[in-house]
Amino acid sequence: MGVGGPARFFVAAMDEATVVAAARWADSRGLPLRVLGGGSNIVVADEGVEALVVQIALRGISSRNAGGAVEVTAAAGEPWDSLVEEAVANGWAGLECLSGIPGLVGATPLQNVGAYGQEVAQTVTAVRVFDRGSDTIVTLSAADCGFGYRTSRFKSGEPDRFVVLSVTYRLVPGGTPAVRYADLERDLAAREIARPSLSDVRRSVLAIRRAKSMVLDPADDNRRSCGSFFLNPIVNAVQLAQVERAAEDPGMPRWPEGEGRTKLSAAWLIERAGFRRGEGPGPVTLSTRHSLAIVCHGGARAADVRAFAAEIRGRVAARFGVRLVLEPVLWGGSPV
Ligand SMILES: Cc1cc2nc3c(=O)[nH]c(=O)nc-3n(C[C@H](O)[C@H](O)[C@H](O)COP(=O)(O)OP(=O)(O)OC[C@H]3O[C@@H](n4cnc5c(N)ncnc54)[C@H](O)[C@@H]3O)c2cc1C
Repeated sequence: MGVGGPARFFVAAMDEATVVAAARWADSRGLPLRVLGGGSNIVVADEGVEALVVQIALRGISSRNAGGAVEVTAAAGEPWDSLVEEAVANGWAGLECLSGIPGLVGATPLQNVGAYGQEVAQTVTAVRVFDRGSDTIVTLSAADCGFGYRTSRFKSGEPDRFVVLSVTYRLVPGGTPAVRYADLERDLAAREIARPSLSDVRRSVLAIRRAKSMVLDPADDNRRSCGSFFLNPIVNAVQLAQVERAAEDPGMPRWPEGEGRTKLSAAWLIERAGFRRGEGPGPVTLSTRHSLAIVCHGGARAADVRAFAAEIRGRVAARFGVRLVLEPVLWGGSPV
């Protein structure tokens, strides 16, 4: 987002030993440790971060055949989209719909990164972590990670306990791509592709994302965002009835989530609460192409982002009784 102040202490960790040493150094001084990947999903307070920030710069990718599948292990500092590109080029299915998501490999298990019907929980088999609780490096299975919609044990269960060092994804050589989303089906149909390859799907996903300013593009006026600022809310039957009454629109988008729960569109709720794309208070606005993205312009400060997010949340809550949950992580400052 290009806002926020400095780190009180900072180290770039090129190897696992440095990650461990950094965590111990912070602990011995009673300082919080903040783990930085690509910084694409963090809003740093203007006054900065009173912590040791460790930037994960571990690199390296290896793969091995595993009973008809291929298991790819990537160090936490590998750029995510390069890994997806390589998997697609090798004909390994499982990550193609996650093309174009900014950031590094190590953050993907954090919020169970997902898009267009895929999420990493479907392919992650192991996550190697430094466990600050036991002061050891351990490998967690997917079942240990507590994955959910845009969340995991790392994000909501036990935040700050684990530093991700590498992630293993189980991919399918020669597998068919996942086409589960209407947008994706439409784009492929428009290109008259009936039996898409992994590369076709990657190309479509990148095109769709670009049209929504959801890839990093230095020439895009909407580029200073952290992607979606709010999660799609998941409500129970009682809450759904309340939202339906307030919405007075049978066309309100919704998706069944099982166990009587329903996922709603945060973008729709925000628009119906009176916010319009491209508009906002001064140096921060909604993206002109996506109502879920808060975009910073010249002179924007983290305080502006926080104030706008709070206003959006407040008006959606007042109109629909739904409290939107933020997707990015706030570093420093008071809660929104
Ligand atoms: C334009 C745009 C589009 C986006 N689209 C999507 C999308 O489609 N789907 C989606 O799921 N997300 C999306 N995002 C959000 C973001 O790209 C992902 O959350 C990504 O995984 C963040 O990676 P990062 O390396 O930049 O993490 P950072 O922003 O650096 O960190 C995010 C959080 O993860 C923690 N973290 C990072 N690395 C580690 C590590 N190695 N160990 C422990 N904790 C760690 C940080 O402490 C922080 O809490 C988008 C963002 C942008 C800017």
